[in-house]
Amino acid sequence: MTNKQLILILGAGESGVGAAILAQQQGFNVFVSDFGTIADNYKSELQNHAIQFEEGTHEQAMNLINNATTERVSEIIKSPGVPEKSPIIQAIRKAGIPIISELEFAARYTNAKLICITGSNGKTTTTMLTYYMLQQAGLDVALGGNVGKSFALQVAEDNKSTNQSDNLQTCKLTNLQTKYYVLEISSFQLDDMYDFKADIAILLNITPDHLDRYNYNFQNYVDSKMKMLQNMTANDTIIFCADDEVLAQEMQKYSTQANVLSYTIQNDRTKQGFFDKKTITIQNTETLTINITDMQLKGIHNYGNSMAAAIAAQTINIKSDVIRESLQTFSSVEHRLEKLPFTVRGVEYINDSKATNVNSTWYALESMNDNVIWIAGGTDKGNEYEALYDLVSEKVKALICLGVDNAKLLANFSDKVPVITEARSMHEAVTKAYELSQKGDTVLLSPACASFDLFKNYMDRGIQFKNNVRNL
Ligand code: ADP
Repeated sequence: MTNKQLILILGAGESGVGAAILAQQQGFNVFVSDFGTIADNYKSELQNHAIQFEEGTHEQAMNLINNATTERVSEIIKSPGVPEKSPIIQAIRKAGIPIISELEFAARYTNAKLICITGSNGKTTTTMLTYYMLQQAGLDVALGGNVGKSFALQVAEDNKSTNQSDNLQTCKLTNLQTKYYVLEISSFQLDDMYDFKADIAILLNITPDHLDRYNYNFQNYVDSKMKMLQNMTANDTIIFCADDEVLAQEMQKYSTQANVLSYTIQNDRTKQGFFDKKTITIQNTETLTINITDMQLKGIHNYGNSMAAAIAAQTINIKSDVIRESLQTFSSVEHRLEKLPFTVRGVEYINDSKATNVNSTWYALESMNDNVIWIAGGTDKGNEYEALYDLVSEKVKALICLGVDNAKLLANFSDKVPVITEARSMHEAVTKAYELSQKGDTVLLSPACASFDLFKNYMDRGIQFKNNVRNL
């Protein structure tokens, strides 16, 4: 028997393994349980740290939860992928053991400033852009949350270097340079966050997504996203998109001490960021206007994302010339409106495989000129396509439905596009797109659906698209 507290970690992916390493470093006993198979790299990480685990079952975890062993579990750290409805979570709730997310846990062990980004769409793009701006400004910054290395692992690594070189108290006294984390945060993580506090929170938008995880109740999902603002004080800053009706309404009823800033893709000069069709202006601490033709990121959604990142950068006093240069040089993230660096017979190809819902595809189509050959389809998450009707009628000359079951796309768009056809593989889709296109057209892969019917994930889908285009 040991007096040490035991932390049980569910899920041995990036966040679970990071949490396990940090928990062990902080002196807890740790046990990791994954119902699936643990990837080799994560298994060796656990083994290298002599952390006990099980895979393919939650048997030992269940024993720990039901107190069938001598050790008591003090807390559970749950990976975002583990659904609330799963039997293990039900058992934990019954046993009354607190469940937290990896971000909640990691934040306890760092003094760094946290810039946190959430929303239904645009999180990765805005997170990467904000991170890029801080890097360009020469700040000590790391990236975490849903992208790159887990936040917990990085906090563990930071603590290690601090302990080796000095102790934390001395660091505080000598007031070493502030460290920043830019964190991409999903609603699944927010569900298990309680004391976590952002120093800067960016709310991009809230549109229906993942409703299967929220009892098909949109307000549950909204409430989860709004948790991003919990615990914020007068020293903190909230940045939100004023155009998003749901967000605007929620912000109206939300009472907070924090400094609230907003941006719009309208020409509304009362906001800290606005767009006048030719330029975006950011006017938080300084006024900065930049012509959209000078920016690498295209599409009005990206002008919004850029304003959000720039307002955050100004909040921590990054100068206008650094922000301007960052906006001029930051190009799109892979699989998000990623323009291939060549044309085929005068036809442009754009990989927007990460567009897994209708809203993101709306923005993709909105940013296109006419003559689009649109490749869409996959696993439908309860899509309602009406919002796309006008853009599709106006811009799409052919639709290639790429999925196992294309019935819904066919039913929605057969009378709206001159040509509609089906494909069962990326090779077939790209070949058909090639045959249907003429000089000056754009082939856009923006599926509006998840990828799991024909592909491993959206990255596999995007890579297959690019490879097939390269081989044309
Ligand atoms: P997330 O991390 O929230 O999934 P990404 O930055 O990966 O967001 O982008 C996902 C998809 O959404 C891409 O197709 C992208 O072009 C689109 N998108 C990016 N920003 C926005 C936004 N502000 N509103 C709507 N769609 C967006």
